[in-house]
Parts: sequence; C-alpha cells; structure tokens
Amino acid sequence: MTENDSYRAMLAAVQAFHDKHDFRNTGGEEMAYRVALMTEELGEISACVTKGKDISALAEECADLLILLMGTAIAGEFDLNKAFWEKMQQLDKRESRMIKGRIRVSEFRDT
Ligand SMILES: [Mg+2]
Repeated sequence: MTENDSYRAMLAAVQAFHDKHDFRNTGGEEMAYRVALMTEELGEISACVTKGKDISALAEECADLLILLMGTAIAGEFDLNKAFWEKMQQLDKRESRMIKGRIRVSEFRDT
C-alpha cells in the first residue's frame, strides 16, 4: 500500500484542486451544479460502455466521477470516508437475489 492508496491523500489532492480554482467562492461548490457535473460524467461512463471504448477510457471517466464525488463531500462538508464504511456495513448485511438473470443486493422491502 502506498500513500496514493489512502483516502486522506486523495481528499487532500481534491481539496488542493478546489483551492487552486477557488471553487468555494466561484460557484464550483454549489450543490445543484455539482449534481449536473456528476450526471455529465455518469453519461461519459455510459458512453464508454455503449460505444465499446477501451478500459482505460472507462477508468478515466470513473476517476472523473470519483473526483467529483470527493469534491461534493468537500462542498457539502460531510465525511465521505465515514459514510462509505457505514454503508458498506449495511450492504454486507443485505441479501442478494437473482432478478432476470442478474444479481441484486437490496433490502427487498416491496416483496
Ligand atoms: Mg469525463
């Protein structure tokens, strides 16, 4: 494991990016704008799959989305690392089912 593997190092890099462009005072941390940017990146991820682009293109678009997600945690002043581990604990308790040939892990509240 290297320093690059730590959430703390990744978050510091994203924070430095926000500081460099003063996102806090220039609209870059407005939540509705961030949601639009994340949606845009999700579309780019989708295009990688539907257009059959190579895996490096998919990795780059996933990185774009991850950077935006971490920046959204900065903008919203919440601890994404803590939220991640709390959610993983919840997911680990859920059951899985095969639905139309694909696995789904969910609470299955409506069935
Ligand atoms: Mg992109």
